[in-house]
Amino acid sequence: MLKVLTGGPGSGNGAAPLALALWEAFAPRRAMLIGRARRWPSNLGILVLDAVLVRLLIPVAAVGIAVIAAQRGWGLLNITPWPGWLETLIGFLALDLAIYAQHVAFHKVPLLWRLHRMHHADLDIDVSTGLRFHPIEIILSMLIKIAVVLLIGVPAVAVIAFEVVLNATSMFNHSNAALPLWLDRIVRLLLVTPDMHRVHHSVLRHETDSNFGFNLPWWDRLFGTYRPQPEAGHDRMTIGLPIFRDPAELRLDRLITQPFRDDTGATAASGAQCRHGGNP
Ligand SMILES: [Zn+2]
Ligand SMILES: [Zn+2]
Repeated sequence: MLKVLTGGPGSGNGAAPLALALWEAFAPRRAMLIGRARRWPSNLGILVLDAVLVRLLIPVAAVGIAVIAAQRGWGLLNITPWPGWLETLIGFLALDLAIYAQHVAFHKVPLLWRLHRMHHADLDIDVSTGLRFHPIEIILSMLIKIAVVLLIGVPAVAVIAFEVVLNATSMFNHSNAALPLWLDRIVRLLLVTPDMHRVHHSVLRHETDSNFGFNLPWWDRLFGTYRPQPEAGHDRMTIGLPIFRDPAELRLDRLITQPFRDDTGATAASGAQCRHGGNP
């Protein structure tokens, strides 16, 4: 039985509950009153619900902090006599600029890049990539947003609007949905389009380090990080990173551990050449 617990070659994350479930199934200590069939769907449902709640609760906390800051007069916009619509607009723009700056920082600071690169290691890019962020990055990102809310005094309505818009635009600009080129050119003046963000998921580092915007496309143009199209074209460009190119890396447990691992295999070596434009 100990062998089951310590696990064989197949053991990994999630092995312990599985081993214990098998153990209690084959060697139960006492007879159960209700059994698994009626209890497990609910008990596992709670696990999923808790995970979803965390995703919702942290943004709610940011809104709550905006309300408290407004009541106490904390933050720049809470000491200005400007009209509500103007403060909402400024608050929204401040949050979007902060997310842009945060994204640049997550690329430039090696420790933060380790967390963020899981988002980039996806070997394809579609709507689901827009949800693929490491939990630690999500928590850090929310703390940064809360700091901006406190410092700027962002109105609660702007925080809610920003969260709703950012979730929608992030899924939109990661999607593999085809947009006619003429329409892309127009939409791109106001919003980051899928074609614009796809450049950011290129395997070439200079393309990865461009188009940091998630929502408004203006910051990239303003700060010189805008790159209109991928060099290889959208059909031929390679998506992902030079490291973690093994499809086995797409497994959930691998995603979670990627920040703490380095890919030292042959693919990483050939990837390093890609990183320098393919010229040895
Ligand atoms: Zn990025
Ligand atoms: Zn992305």
